[in-house]
Amino acid sequence: ADWAAAVAAVRALPAAARVLLICHVNPDGDALGSMLGFGLGLRRFGVRNLQATFPGPPGVPEPFRWLPGLELLVPQDEAYLDPDLVICFDAASESRLGDLVDRLDKAGAALVLDHHASNTRFGGIHLVDPHAAATSVVAEGLLDRLGVPLDAEIAACLYVALSTDTGSFRFEATTPAVHEMAARLLATGIRPGDISRLIFDTRPFGAVRLFGEVLVRARLERAAAAGRGLVWTYATREDLARHDQPAYVLEALIDSVRCTAEADVSCVVKQVADAEWAVSLRSKGAVDVSAVAVALGGGGHRFAAGFTGRGSVDEVVDRIRAELGGALLTG
Ligand code: 5GP
Ligand code: MN
Ligand code: MN
Repeated sequence: ADWAAAVAAVRALPAAARVLLICHVNPDGDALGSMLGFGLGLRRFGVRNLQATFPGPPGVPEPFRWLPGLELLVPQDEAYLDPDLVICFDAASESRLGDLVDRLDKAGAALVLDHHASNTRFGGIHLVDPHAAATSVVAEGLLDRLGVPLDAEIAACLYVALSTDTGSFRFEATTPAVHEMAARLLATGIRPGDISRLIFDTRPFGAVRLFGEVLVRARLERAAAAGRGLVWTYATREDLARHDQPAYVLEALIDSVRCTAEADVSCVVKQVADAEWAVSLRSKGAVDVSAVAVALGGGGHRFAAGFTGRGSVDEVVDRIRAELGGALLTG
């Protein structure tokens, strides 16, 4: 990671500099939390002209609508067209930035904070650490090097990011360093019980019933080797409409599917347009799902990855089966 160049780029900003923070489409806890937490830190650092935005459908998912720093957000078409500095959070490639890629080209400098092994090294200055559990780990490292102390607002954002990307500190990426960072964040006085309930354990009754319907249609496809099966289900826009639910509620669905004991790989196929599906993949370890996702045009991590699939649900799942059928069943 090019810490010295990143620190220099921020320190070199003149007082009137315009800084634009961006993150990946359909922002999750890490994208929003690391972007807003770092944004609040830049405020404390003295950056006055500061905006944050993300591509695609506007609107922050309900579980994140209490985050400190939301006031930094502007609609993407109102975001600085040629900022002095653009800082990108949690996006592995330019394809995750939609129409905001042009800001990267037009910006005076571009800083990329990320932790995806599949990061394509787009942009100018790279702070990309594939060993970091979340982009917020990188964000905290840069705030520290800029001399910005943590406060409860910054910490709440970074804690949301860290706890979502580690699955509440359950995933393999949960190293001693992750718990040490969590300890620093908690020392600011933030309340982990309240935060966890808001982001993990609260959903509308309509979503509970929608999950019921979608889980009933889950399919388990056993593989030759024990524990190497695939479990998958799908949800259409019609399913969402029937229960009057926004699309983000489906983000938690994969967690109810991936617990299937008989399957190493789990998958949720979520309709985003007529013949377009956002696919979530999870692995318990034997299969590298980021390789599957990359082969199908997406990206992610070994244990959690995704891609956009076109055609029918059956066509999309067929492509996953084809990728799983071959050399990917390793270990
Ligand atoms: P999720 O299933 O929670 O949406 O995403 C899991 C992981 O896969 C995340 O790290 C995310 O960055 C990555 N991912 C999900 N969808 C896509 C996609 O369409 N393209 C790319 N490049 N990565 C994705
Ligand atoms: Mn993310
Ligand atoms: Mn992340």
